[in-house]
Amino acid sequence: MTRNRVVIVGGGLIGLSIARALTERGVSDVLVLERHSLASGGTGKSSGIVRAHYGVPSIAAMAWRSLPLIEKLGDVVGFRQTGYTVIVGEENEAALRANIATHQSLGIEAEMLAVDELAALWPMMNVEDVAAAAIERRGGYADASQLALYFGQVARDKGARVRQHTPVARVLTEGEKVTGVELEGGEVVEADTVILAAGWWSARLLAGLGIDFPVEGYRSELLVVDAGVPLADLPVVSDLVSLQYCRIEGSGQFLVGNSDHDDPENRYVDPDDYSNIASEAGIEKYAEKVMHRFPGFPDPSVTHSYAGVYDVPPDWNPVIAPVGPEGLVLCAGFAGHGFKISPAVGDLVADLVLEGDSTDPDVPARDFRLERFAEGDLLRSPHPYVGAGEMR
Ligand SMILES: Cc1cc2nc3c(=O)[nH]c(=O)nc-3n(C[C@H](O)[C@H](O)[C@H](O)COP(=O)(O)OP(=O)(O)OC[C@H]3O[C@@H](n4cnc5c(N)ncnc54)[C@H](O)[C@@H]3O)c2cc1C
Repeated sequence: MTRNRVVIVGGGLIGLSIARALTERGVSDVLVLERHSLASGGTGKSSGIVRAHYGVPSIAAMAWRSLPLIEKLGDVVGFRQTGYTVIVGEENEAALRANIATHQSLGIEAEMLAVDELAALWPMMNVEDVAAAAIERRGGYADASQLALYFGQVARDKGARVRQHTPVARVLTEGEKVTGVELEGGEVVEADTVILAAGWWSARLLAGLGIDFPVEGYRSELLVVDAGVPLADLPVVSDLVSLQYCRIEGSGQFLVGNSDHDDPENRYVDPDDYSNIASEAGIEKYAEKVMHRFPGFPDPSVTHSYAGVYDVPPDWNPVIAPVGPEGLVLCAGFAGHGFKISPAVGDLVADLVLEGDSTDPDVPARDFRLERFAEGDLLRSPHPYVGAGEMR
């Protein structure tokens, strides 16, 4: 039996960023427990897109706070600062303008982009049905696994320990306090603070304490497309007209993700048991959307597909908050946002553990409480996009 000040369950981006943030602030007695290997969950499937374009101001602020670290790490995390663009149809032009105004009020470098400027930036793009566009010139994409491993390295350098292939079976409590965790196999690891950063699987550990964390596994399909010529660095595109997102791979190929979240085929799955390739119908649908948006590709073909699973609460936003017995913190439910905000999430959890509240006025801890689901007070964008899912 060992006694630890902090045990973190889950060695993905979020658990490792929390370990990094705590150790950077002098808490060296930190143990990360990961059931498989580091970054083997949602993190390993991430498209790694870097943007602050969110309708929920606190999420946008966290993305903006996180950007300087990703910029500083640069090649260490494969960051390509290609810029990030978002394109909308007429029905969403007002929402786009309102969101950009909110972003600017938060200090985020985002601006509207004339459609002909977009066409000049992205010469192979069909902009006929694009009513308005915006750009974050400091956006782009990076490698989520590399960022997770970087966080793990920093935490270990500062004294944290990481145990891989160590599944946690349950959280232990005594009276109203958390006392540690029990591993599968029976070993008890004592702790003053237990942080659940186990994505979708966090709900199972909470259920053992009678706490309901409503989270679903949403399967997301991706295609890698060869355009017929290698594509050079071009801005990431969030296409809210056709409901897809696209970025260039280092190989010059094109990565396309589905952002039609109403698609019944992909909801809802067991993240331990799902098909890891796109369905035939999916491939056909996504390929059609690519051909519509990028008719300038000289000889497009699909090279392969894969799928990942988002951990999705009812409002598609995370819980980052103390829950249940004293000493227990939940940090999960990041859907498709977790990579770009992971540095700020670690900082927020360190604030909660060490200061008892957020120290960032633009990131109120209240936004991320678990009780919002039972209260029906969901964390929603004040300027939602019509028909464009919940990811913005
Ligand atoms: C297909 C896809 C594309 C995405 N694209 C983007 C993007 O472009 N930009 C962006 O910002 N975000 C994106 N995301 C979201 C982002 O990648 C995730 O939000 C983030 O990686 C989640 O990190 P996590 O640490 O919470 O979860 P995970 O990476 O899932 O980590 C949780 C860990 O907990 C471990 N675990 C589970 N149960 C236990 C247990 N009982 N004991 C011990 N360990 C346990 C798991 O093995 C896992 O390693 C994407 C996600 C997916 C799936």
